[in-house]
Amino acid sequence: MADVQLSNITKVYPGPVQAVDNVSLDIHDREFVVLVGPSGCGKSTVLRMIAGLEDITSGTISIGARVVNDVAPKDRDIAMVFQNYALYPHMTVHKNMAFGLLLRRKHFVWDNPLGFLLAHGRWKQARAERRDIDTRVRATAETLGIGELLQRHPRALSGGQRQRVAVGRAIVRNPKAFLFDEPLSNLDAKLRIGMRAELKRLHRQVQTTTVYVTHDQEEAMTLGDRVVVLKDGVIHQCGTPYEVYEQPINRFVAGFVGTPPMNFLDGRLVRDGGNLYFTDGHQRLPLAARHQASLAAHVDQPVVLGIRPDVWRPAQAPPGSAVLNAEVQVVEPLGDRTDIHCRTASHPHMVCRVDARTRVTEGQTVPMAVEMERVHFFAPGENGATLSLAR
Ligand code: ADP
Repeated sequence: MADVQLSNITKVYPGPVQAVDNVSLDIHDREFVVLVGPSGCGKSTVLRMIAGLEDITSGTISIGARVVNDVAPKDRDIAMVFQNYALYPHMTVHKNMAFGLLLRRKHFVWDNPLGFLLAHGRWKQARAERRDIDTRVRATAETLGIGELLQRHPRALSGGQRQRVAVGRAIVRNPKAFLFDEPLSNLDAKLRIGMRAELKRLHRQVQTTTVYVTHDQEEAMTLGDRVVVLKDGVIHQCGTPYEVYEQPINRFVAGFVGTPPMNFLDGRLVRDGGNLYFTDGHQRLPLAARHQASLAAHVDQPVVLGIRPDVWRPAQAPPGSAVLNAEVQVVEPLGDRTDIHCRTASHPHMVCRVDARTRVTEGQTVPMAVEMERVHFFAPGENGATLSLAR
């Protein structure tokens, strides 16, 4: 087990394509860190640089306090699990899992009687080492629920079983760190959720430092001790799942984390009778007490209001409270909850997530009560910085 440290890592591919731009990150011993971001944001490149599969243009990578920039992948003592599993098709599950360990054996003697005659001592050591590898493979396979499949070949396994073998092959080596590159992407939705929980349980058990790459923000939130949100090769925010969800540093993070995504309304802040209001030009909302002071400097300036789908709902509210009138366009029942797609005078598409018992009719215009304590404000622009966090 070990820390993994990235210091000012940059990667420029020929082209030139700036895939990773001055990324610094300290991944602590035993921590599970998830790199998440849209396709092409550079997350796989970061992972591949940690693995040594990609040269670093500039910066330093250390694993367990050792700078590994010039260390070959096989000597970094890390194990990587790929999206396509990368199993050897001609080997059994047992052999696939044991292969890495067999290659690293200290005492290598062909298992035949001649070997016994030639080098009895070494032969015995080699046998002991093989037995040890076999024990480790079987124990790991049991942990992963694939103990019955050890003699099968990959072609005779389901996608989920193949993924378990790939994970088992990584675990059995007991490396300093695990690197996962979108390992669940090829599984169907139900299996993905099951494997997600299993990976989390396994990490609790083996406690190996883990760097995990995914484009799926829900996977990132459920798995990571910390989540690193990347865009265009740059880290936008690094924090606990709670922090990136509740305290997004900018509009990009706010919109990327959370399903359905946050609704954004362009507008301005205005002052009236000593109080601040947000207006989209048609309707106005009074700011909560906690925002009144922190946003005072932005009066008469354009701002973006961020409302998560569960932060507003159809409700009768007293005059003067925060209400947006919205026209219901589509009602989507999801079983335990319902998504209401609607539009306001200034915004053509917003989503509201409500309790399944809420009754609204498509085409109806309803007052929506907004919990102003829980909304966010951002500077204009797709990466506009938060204006609502105390700094
Ligand atoms: P992600 O994993 O977030 O989808 P990648 O790390 O694979 O993103 O890629 C980041 C950027 O680098 C993308 O613009 C991609 O097209 C580019 N890229 C990746 N690999 C290469 C390569 N071998 N040569 C040139 N450009 C590359």
